[in-house]
Amino acid sequence: MATLFTRIINREIPANIVYENEKVLAFQDIHPQAPHHVLIIPKTEIATLNDLDASTAPLVGEMFLAAKEIARTLGVDQDGYRVVMNCNRDGGQTVFHIHLHLLAGRSMHWPPG
Ligand code: 5GP
Repeated sequence: MATLFTRIINREIPANIVYENEKVLAFQDIHPQAPHHVLIIPKTEIATLNDLDASTAPLVGEMFLAAKEIARTLGVDQDGYRVVMNCNRDGGQTVFHIHLHLLAGRSMHWPPG
């Protein structure tokens, strides 16, 4: 069964898409945790970071390139932003299709909660 995020890729579920290319899609998070909260996903389903391998690793580079570009487009690249990938229960992952959270527009805390 397709993941929620694959259903967004396939336009079966609506989302506010902010960036797309052949490899990745990015859209606004439905429950934003910052003034800007974008999710960047590969168009290939990979459940968790644990499932990444040498053949799929270049997709993560594509995700970071998209994050950089989106940050520039949002005008937050110089003030700064945070990029996070959660993995499994203790990481706080709830959707099992890897994604980067791009958070920006406020000062981030460290350590994260
Ligand atoms: P995770 O907890 O797996 O790291 O992040 C999943 C993210 O997906 C959460 O921040 C959550 O708000 C977001 N999310 C869950 N369902 C939807 C949805 O249907 N549409 C959008 N745009 N975001 C979603």
